[in-house]
Amino acid sequence: MVARFLWKTCIEKTVTMADERTNLIGLDRDELIHLAASIGEKPFRAKQLWHWIYHRGVTDFDAMTTLSKPLRTALSQSFSLARPAVARDERSNDGTSKWLLRFADGNEAETVFIPEEDRGALCVSSQVGCTLTCSFCHTGTQRLVRDLTAGEIVGQLMTARDSYGEWPSPPGDRLLTNIVVMGMGEPLFNFDNVVKALRIIMDPEGIAISKRRITLSTSGVVPMIKKVGEQLGVKLAVSLHAATDDVRDVLVPLNKKYPIRELLDACRAYPGADNARRITFEYVMLKGVNDSPADARALARLVSGIPAKFNLIPFNAWPGAPYECSSVATMNRFAAILNEAGYSAPIRVPRGRDIMAACGQLRSDSQRQRRSRTTPQVAAASPA
Ligand code: SAH
Ligand code: SF4
Repeated sequence: MVARFLWKTCIEKTVTMADERTNLIGLDRDELIHLAASIGEKPFRAKQLWHWIYHRGVTDFDAMTTLSKPLRTALSQSFSLARPAVARDERSNDGTSKWLLRFADGNEAETVFIPEEDRGALCVSSQVGCTLTCSFCHTGTQRLVRDLTAGEIVGQLMTARDSYGEWPSPPGDRLLTNIVVMGMGEPLFNFDNVVKALRIIMDPEGIAISKRRITLSTSGVVPMIKKVGEQLGVKLAVSLHAATDDVRDVLVPLNKKYPIRELLDACRAYPGADNARRITFEYVMLKGVNDSPADARALARLVSGIPAKFNLIPFNAWPGAPYECSSVATMNRFAAILNEAGYSAPIRVPRGRDIMAACGQLRSDSQRQRRSRTTPQVAAASPA
């Protein structure tokens, strides 16, 4: 089946930059207390600011009605509440949204919102580019430009919330319920900023998305995995993609440093994983490379003892990619073997394929589209 969506709107917006003021988005509670002190205000002002910034989501200091007018004016002179600029805003006819966000220095990353029946997940980026060079991933062919700051990570979420008008943070029914850190980059190579951003996002008096609704995906930075559990307690997804080191060394070169055994030991020790919060093993289906029944059986053996589930991802081809996607029959067989071994192993539907294109090939995909776009209607997904 061909995954192809027509994106209905492509809006090039004027991007305003060069705001000299300090942006408050991305500051944590301690930093806000420090900031309040620096302008001669008591710590409770920091609590008020937190409420306005992260619970109400205001974009203008004038809306902070619990602060005096002179204080609001003073704040607006030195500080801003700026979100990343929306360089492009695309909506698929299936409800998926993609934003190409431009940060203050002109670097860009995409954020994708994927609505489902009873929930909606926002896929956020942690870096511009990636230092790792996974051979099936288009992001891996680009050099790392830089880590995103905590403010830029939180800013992705705030932009999405702005777009859906989900302020103040809704207590119950929400469109944007979940976060997946599965966009561009390796989040555990930008650990401090990712931790800071997710703590801001999880704070129950602010954006308030609980750790149970956040999934962080790593290619397997073994020494950091335990810290994710200890410092964040979010759900873990691991890009496994192979059942043997020989194959994984090629697909995920980081495997040469942290081989499968060490990776799975780290998963076994992951604090907080249990049957209700299983570790997701992501597995991209590559024809003739990692998709044999023997691979499936080996996988089931490898993860035994780990509260695990699989996510089989049809390979999303990109121009020049050295792989093809496995056939539907092969993927079904692979899934059935894992199911028989007791593991859930859904195959992402074509729509998911489209989503992975966005998540794995964010900026390059957009740049390519921008270059090739001659009409406002763009085919966003590549057929695999
Ligand atoms: N760097 C992290 C998170 C970002 S990648 C990681 O590697 O886990 C998010 C997911 O998309 C990973 O499982 C990655 O392997 C997968 N992915 C990347 N390129 C892909 C492609 N072309 N087709 C299918 N999945 C892909
Ligand atoms: Fe980086 Fe993840 Fe792509 Fe590998 S799969 S190159 S770690 S973004």
